[in-house]
Amino acid sequence: MTCVTEPQKRIPVRSDVDVVVAGAGVAGVFAALGAARAGARTALVERFGNVGGNIGPGMIVNGHMISGRACPEVRYECTVYPQLYGLGREFLDRYAELGGGSLPPVKETFYAWDASIASYVAQTMLEESGVELLVGTMVADPVMDGHTVRGVYIETKSGREAVTARVTVDATGDADLARRAGARVLHPRNEYHELDGHAPTGMGISYLVGGVDWPAFNQAKSNHRPARKDLEWGAAVLGDRAAGMGLLLPALRQAVETDGYEPNPTVELDGVPVEFDTGALSPLPAPGIAQGSGKVGRVETVDTGNGAHMAALETHLRRRIFEHVMMYRRYVPGFEQACLLAVAPFLGSRGGPCISGDYTLTMDDCRAGRRFDDVLYLYGEFRALRYTAAQGRPLWVDMPYRALLPKGLEGLLAVGRSASGIPDTLLRNRMGCKVMGQAGGTAAALAAARDETPRQLDVRALQERLLEDGFYLGDRFRLRELGLV
Ligand SMILES: Cc1cc2nc3c(=O)[nH]c(=O)nc-3n(C[C@H](O)[C@H](O)[C@H](O)COP(=O)(O)OP(=O)(O)OC[C@H]3O[C@@H](n4cnc5c(N)ncnc54)[C@H](O)[C@@H]3O)c2cc1C
Repeated sequence: MTCVTEPQKRIPVRSDVDVVVAGAGVAGVFAALGAARAGARTALVERFGNVGGNIGPGMIVNGHMISGRACPEVRYECTVYPQLYGLGREFLDRYAELGGGSLPPVKETFYAWDASIASYVAQTMLEESGVELLVGTMVADPVMDGHTVRGVYIETKSGREAVTARVTVDATGDADLARRAGARVLHPRNEYHELDGHAPTGMGISYLVGGVDWPAFNQAKSNHRPARKDLEWGAAVLGDRAAGMGLLLPALRQAVETDGYEPNPTVELDGVPVEFDTGALSPLPAPGIAQGSGKVGRVETVDTGNGAHMAALETHLRRRIFEHVMMYRRYVPGFEQACLLAVAPFLGSRGGPCISGDYTLTMDDCRAGRRFDDVLYLYGEFRALRYTAAQGRPLWVDMPYRALLPKGLEGLLAVGRSASGIPDTLLRNRMGCKVMGQAGGTAAALAAARDETPRQLDVRALQERLLEDGFYLGDRFRLRELGLV
């Protein structure tokens, strides 16, 4: 039997709202906030118990919450034009007030603590804005009416329910909802490596280790002199990875030779071997705590929108993380009492499938600082900024509203990584995701209020609203050109 038929059944409507947002990650939180603050009755659905996605439960709050200093002349806020903040600014101010790290001037980063602050601040802002927060709730299929999305089916402890909405926002990170609605999607490609060192995909799962005696480790590290036999073994077995491993190299060799520890783990995805790794553990600014990250080789074989791929990667990585910590316990000085404290509940990704939008933003657009009449904000893809700064002047690109509209579907907007960009990691920058989320949520609220689909929405009306909310769409000359002054 290759297929079964799901019997038709009547599904209770849990909520009927103006805007429903699928996924409370970086973009989804701000989409819900943007929609609610623009006056829409808004529901936000998240599979985990806490919000924030990669910067919340994912525990990946590094890289400056506003990432990528392009060059000395480009300020740290460079993933969006420096004068643009929107709700992202409010979020960061509140995050900083509670001691959140990774903000310039960066002194220290404490992933787990910073992530709890990010989740807490996001949840507080959502509650204050009156967003109906459905956590621990899985978004299943979209509710379809022909080619129009009219909400989502959800799975909770109560069973299958629906949230119906005038406008639906896909903020799942991998355009999961758009794909289920039948949208054409763009997949990562190996050739994107040339455009973006992080492409394709770039995945990681964070984990925390406690009980480390760092002084003992540091002492052993400073006394360590690499033995020729270890270096030869490393070069033969690990290749380039052996360079700079320090204390870990003899430990790994012992584990391989004594316990049969696998030095180069791989997982097969559709018959293709994909490498994965758990790396070195590094100290966090709390006594005895270490942070690690499980990583997956960057090849287009990995499809973050494929349930079987994700299950295989997660199970192998989780097993490996435990065994890696055991290896440290047995063979690395200072780790004798170490224990695995927490592993993030999901394998995060920098890229993956995204919608094929009415427009697809490209690295060429970013490098050329291209202008679009349906501009939502000025985006600074940080590699493009670095590139253009090296050519003489850093350039920001107009983020076009059309990149949020999935071709062939009505009633749906995609924000964050789900929006349309090539390479697949192009739109991943966190500050950019926040601002795009807010712009998408605002668009959804306006469309709902006017009884229009997002595609029918008058972009000028949206731009006027974004300007009122403090967005920067260009200088006075540009605003005049756009008919906005
Ligand atoms: C290892 C790593 C390091 C990174 N480093 C940086 C960095 O230094 N700087 C930077 O700017 N960016 C970085 N990023 C990228 C950044 O974190 C992501 O691009 C960003 O989180 C994308 O935001 P998003 O809202 O689109 O997706 P996510 O943050 O992934 O959010 C998606 C949300 O949707 C939820 N969801 C998905 N499916 C469902 C469903 N069916 N039902 C309910 N909920 C669902 C998820 O649980 C999640 O909360 C990094 C990413 C990784 C993985």
